[in-house]
Amino acid sequence: MAQAITINDEETRLIQGAYRDLLRSIKAKLSPEDKVNIRASYELAVRAHAEQRRKSGEPYILHPIAVAKICAEEIGLGATAIISALLHDVVEDTDITLEDIRRQFGTRIAKIVDGLTKLDSAYNAESPQAENFRKVLSTLVDDVRVVLIKMADRLHNMRTLGAMPRHKQLKIAAETSYVYAPLAHRLGLYKIRTEYLDLCMKITDPDEYRDIAQKLAETKRSRDEYVQEFIRPLRERLDSIEVPYNITGRAKSIHSIWNKIKKKNVPFEQIYDLFAVRIIVDVPVEDERLVCWQIYSIVTDVHTPIPERLKDWITTPKSNGYESLHTTVIGPKGRYVEVQIRSQRMDEIAERGFAAHWKYKGVSKNPDIYERWLDSVREILDDPNSDAVEFLGDFRSNNLFNEEVFVYTPNGDMKILPKGATALDFAFSIHTDIGYHCQAVRVNNKIVPMGYQLRNGDQVEVVTNNRQRPSEDWLKLVITGKARSRIRSAMKEERRRRGELGRETLERKLKAMKVDFELRSEERRVGKECRSRWSPYH
Ligand code: MN
Repeated sequence: MAQAITINDEETRLIQGAYRDLLRSIKAKLSPEDKVNIRASYELAVRAHAEQRRKSGEPYILHPIAVAKICAEEIGLGATAIISALLHDVVEDTDITLEDIRRQFGTRIAKIVDGLTKLDSAYNAESPQAENFRKVLSTLVDDVRVVLIKMADRLHNMRTLGAMPRHKQLKIAAETSYVYAPLAHRLGLYKIRTEYLDLCMKITDPDEYRDIAQKLAETKRSRDEYVQEFIRPLRERLDSIEVPYNITGRAKSIHSIWNKIKKKNVPFEQIYDLFAVRIIVDVPVEDERLVCWQIYSIVTDVHTPIPERLKDWITTPKSNGYESLHTTVIGPKGRYVEVQIRSQRMDEIAERGFAAHWKYKGVSKNPDIYERWLDSVREILDDPNSDAVEFLGDFRSNNLFNEEVFVYTPNGDMKILPKGATALDFAFSIHTDIGYHCQAVRVNNKIVPMGYQLRNGDQVEVVTNNRQRPSEDWLKLVITGKARSRIRSAMKEERRRRGELGRETLERKLKAMKVDFELRSEERRVGKECRSRWSPYH
């Protein structure tokens, strides 16, 4: 693929400019040692990729520089990730070995580069998506940075997909929307997820994409005017509470507008919530909840709220860390407008997810959400009974992407389960044995079927009986990977046990008939007659 054309002076200037841009985009604090290492990794990558060009014809090195910049600027990662991003294609595409990298940059960076190389080869080998996905997740639990850099790599490739042949574009778009977009969602990288989906749509449905983009541009002016009209009466009140704030109206993504058009089956002109108004306040952490609710009360004083559209992710953040207060109000001309209220910190977590989460660790209300999620990923990966396809199904259908429900044990301990989880899932989440021997479940003091879908705030109590055993139909009553795999292995165990039981029964019968066991070969010879007399299966 590499066309050996030496880089000319103009391109050299282009590369150096891109590198300077990268350095300017780094928000993390760098030690003098970090700076030296970033420079060194850049120089190594420049030398290693010197002879390579991308499909578009531009020098290959511009790609790793762009990926490093996305890591620094859009995901907010630090020196380790930036160095790894600059080196991410070096081992795969050039003569540089992993050992060279380890010697120069240390074990941590070598491990990350190795993880990225393996992910790439999984993709190139055209292995089935399910197996590939499992690999993505395995590296995720090793070091989340591998997946974050991979996200940046994928984003840059998606942005520059134009030079690829159509069938490759479609394949990459399919994988992006199937694997990377949900994962970005789960990691709270909302901005990247939105861009993935828009870029995918641009490839899979180019006409619709162009159509909506054009209409959005045409209606921008009247939309801006409307937003101003909506905001004006709010500003006066907001100014009076003397809290620094920022209020904007932003158009929703093309992909989400398209979804609405399809879902509601109406033309673009009839979609009114094309934008959301966002109010971001700059206050210390200890004040943010109070101030957000204060703003909420101002907004709903000025514009009539639709009560059932209040979403309070401040009291209970989403499982991916998202915190924000959403309300829908009736604006001028009777149009519904969604208003999002949040602090600067919440906004950063909302846009950059995981990476921002670390920055505020200890401050956030729910500091362990990602650890807990990674634990559940690990649990599924470690399950020897799950094969790749089943695993992908489990992963996508429930558990790991979706929202959660919060329920309580009789002692008042909170348990968090994926949305859609049942009473039986709850039993297994407490302990495998409680799941196995679950005979009945009481929710809010009433007996419910085992397949009852849990709701926020439910108080759940499991009644066990030691003689109870899981059965095949239980698989239909659970949605969590844990419960499912435990029931599956119990069924396997049960089948094995029954086999043994059958043999024991046979032995007992034979003994009762005073037939010596050594005669088993005899039995076979005697044939039909014996079998009909001794068989335990009639
Ligand atoms: Mn790459």
